[in-house]
Amino acid sequence: MTRQGNVKVPNGQGLSACRQHWHASYLVLRSRLRSPSAIGFDKKLHEEFILQPILSLLVGFLGFTGRSNIRCFRACTLIDAALPGKVFYPGTKTYAEDIAHFQASAEQNSTSAVNPSSVEDLSAVVESEAADMPPIRDLARRRAAGRSDINGKLHLRAGCKWHEIYASLEPYNVTVAGGRVPGVGVGLILGGGYSWIADQYGLGIDNVVSFDLVLPNGTFVTVSDANHPEILFGLKGGLNNFGIISRVTMYARPLGAVWGGMITYAPSDEISQALADFSLYNTDRKAQIVADYVQTGVDQAAWLIVMFYDGGFQPAVYQPFLDIPALASNVGVQNPGFFEYDTDCKPFIGAFDFETPSAYPHSQNRHVTPANPLITFANLADAEYFHDLLWKMSNTIQASAVSQGQSRWDDIHHPNLALDDPPKELLFGSNITRLKQIKHS
Ligand SMILES: Cc1cc2nc3c(=O)[nH]c(=O)nc-3n(C[C@H](O)[C@H](O)[C@H](O)COP(=O)(O)OP(=O)(O)OC[C@H]3O[C@@H](n4cnc5c(N)ncnc54)[C@H](O)[C@@H]3O)c2cc1C
Repeated sequence: MTRQGNVKVPNGQGLSACRQHWHASYLVLRSRLRSPSAIGFDKKLHEEFILQPILSLLVGFLGFTGRSNIRCFRACTLIDAALPGKVFYPGTKTYAEDIAHFQASAEQNSTSAVNPSSVEDLSAVVESEAADMPPIRDLARRRAAGRSDINGKLHLRAGCKWHEIYASLEPYNVTVAGGRVPGVGVGLILGGGYSWIADQYGLGIDNVVSFDLVLPNGTFVTVSDANHPEILFGLKGGLNNFGIISRVTMYARPLGAVWGGMITYAPSDEISQALADFSLYNTDRKAQIVADYVQTGVDQAAWLIVMFYDGGFQPAVYQPFLDIPALASNVGVQNPGFFEYDTDCKPFIGAFDFETPSAYPHSQNRHVTPANPLITFANLADAEYFHDLLWKMSNTIQASAVSQGQSRWDDIHHPNLALDDPPKELLFGSNITRLKQIKHS
């Protein structure tokens, strides 16, 4: 593909007719389409399920200048001494696995990778790092164990990927308000979190019961409404500013058979109209779509419409789409085996109705729905070019939405999808002062 050929802005008609207010600056660089992930549910909630019981934490991410490199090596040496055999350096298989990211453009080298296997290990890492490093800036590969209890709460260890969690929940007829694309991890819970069930149960952060957290001073705390409510407020949308999470407890939500799948269309006025109508008139919170407008070649594009219905039958709301001749389709009852590919515009109708106090302001008085332009490209050397292009594309879309009264330039950005480092006011609004106080208390 040529550079230009990789990019296409979603059709203006579909966007302008959407009922939600759009803020279109959330862009993801991706290397290829993801394959389907299996989600299915058929038995009742069970006492315990185990994923991979390894917690892996990447340190030394700042090691690019000479001085910080030395500090990174010193920190790694300290951690190595505290956790012998759990620190891995470049050239080892574990290091390579730990820094690998499913999006090549998101992969970063680090000085070392450490795989703590308990909260105590994690505290030791944080203490060692605090002794000689700037605050922790990034985590990378983590694997984890998850557990559920019988009163409808799921205990998910940090490091789980959502597709692993869904696979584990498959037998129990429940789901959780997590991600929709294989490869995305529990970090989603720190930045808001749109899921297939957001219109029914709210954002991921509004489904959190508690976090187990290792504070920057190495202390382990459980954060909930009853204990450390201010930190809970900060963690819900405040990203990785308050420590390292070892476990998150979330509400389990019922889910049986799902109707849905993906339909591919050639671009047409009919599709734009069907999308606009769905966005304007759908009132069924169980019915979701994500619509991708994808450049498939020079001067060639397609709509990929993913449908998800929480119910094991085909609801009438999708009929206008089904009446349009498709290039390909695999819709039907999915049990198990539902999936996501790329996302673009997601017309949620009530995801903010379940707002709990959180760093990310998402008041039901001002519903905003993210539009999420994506660029897929093959050569990492082009990353800077596409990065600039994403910004331009984002601004163009938002300018269009603003000019039509669909968006405002000061609309709060969904932290999970915000491109780069937007002004803090655009992430946290008037919560900034409170968040600073929480961080420094
Ligand atoms: C293909 C794709 C699809 C997406 N789909 C959705 C979607 O449907 N809905 C949605 O809301 N978002 C979506 N996102 C955005 C996604 O939620 C964010 O990229 C999120 O940050 C991913 O978290 P992660 O754990 O996978 O990534 P990571 O890069 O590992 O972590 C993200 C951030 O969280 C921090 N973090 C991770 N784990 C911990 C921890 N245990 N303790 C403290 N800090 C931690 C990291 O330091 C990092 O800053 C998508 C992203 C991609 C790439």
